[in-house]
Amino acid sequence: MTPSTLSRVLADLRSDTVTTPTPEMREAMAQAAVGDDVYGEDPTVNQLQAEVARLTGHEAGLFMPSGTMTNQVAIALHTRRGEEVVCAEGSHIYEWELGMMATFSGVVPRFVPAPLGVPDPEGVRLAVRHSVHQSPTGMISLEDTHNKAGGTVIPLEVLAAVRTVADMEGLPLHLDGARVFNAAAAQNVPVSDITRHFDTVSVCLSKGLGAPVGSVLVGSAAAMKQAHRYRKMMGGGMRQAGVLAAAALVALRDGPDRLREDHRRTRQLAEALVEAGFDVNLAAVQTNIIYATLPDAAAQVARWAEQGVLASALGPDSVRFVLHHQVSDEALAEAIRVLTA
Ligand SMILES: *Cc1c(COP(=O)(O)O)cnc(C)c1O
Repeated sequence: MTPSTLSRVLADLRSDTVTTPTPEMREAMAQAAVGDDVYGEDPTVNQLQAEVARLTGHEAGLFMPSGTMTNQVAIALHTRRGEEVVCAEGSHIYEWELGMMATFSGVVPRFVPAPLGVPDPEGVRLAVRHSVHQSPTGMISLEDTHNKAGGTVIPLEVLAAVRTVADMEGLPLHLDGARVFNAAAAQNVPVSDITRHFDTVSVCLSKGLGAPVGSVLVGSAAAMKQAHRYRKMMGGGMRQAGVLAAAALVALRDGPDRLREDHRRTRQLAEALVEAGFDVNLAAVQTNIIYATLPDAAAQVARWAEQGVLASALGPDSVRFVLHHQVSDEALAEAIRVLTA
């Protein structure tokens, strides 16, 4: 069921990617100065890259069409064929990136357990392999917030401890920070308190921040120079991408402060669902995502859609709700009415 088949959508809770550009974003897009970004000549793209690098405390940034591309370019940067990527179980880089780590970089994942999306640093250390009899570890990757675990946050001391493991093992450390601004908002810290622990970070502008398109990879200037080549190989050279970067700059300016509102509404919805008898693990509800376990998820989601509330069935008995800035308090009240009827 897509929104176009409905007479009226009260609340689209399928994902935080469904937001449409605000009037301010469209205005900025219309006015954007542009150039050929494959030559590095788009001033608005360059401004966006510099701004994300500044906010995250890194030297340089590179704008790409998607978070899958920023993650997979990072994996290509950090690994050689036949190596392993140590990552938290359920990581997006493996679960939802269509085998690209194998097809593009020739590497395989080694999952470590991660209750509520948080791996034990000692577990990460034990997963690292250097023996000649085994595929060696090429890199470590974390995900904050962790999507599949429910938008959960990794405590800062765990990040620091995993950084220590990476240093001791001589391994690069990447963050899939698609929702790292949600993690920062949830902990009430500047995003750089999180991102400074990593060699590279992938940041999505098109999730909760609300831009129509794009992610930025940050890291050292030398790494971003090499990343530029991998981006081109993947077909990510976008030419006059300043029209997209202009919208992303507005998202970066206005988006982070709004996330706390999304988190408040998420909590409100989760508590209403629990009160109505839904099986929701409230401990996992830390940012803007809720997973509920219920029978016949697809059929239930279809019934709600007929009443104007959209959610995602992500398994036979799993439904996901995601809040974003285009779900107002009024829309949330309507959604709660439909979902708990
Ligand atoms: C959405 C997401 C991505 C990137 O997805 P794209 O659709 O390729 O932009 C990466 N990691 C996580 C955790 C995500 O939720």
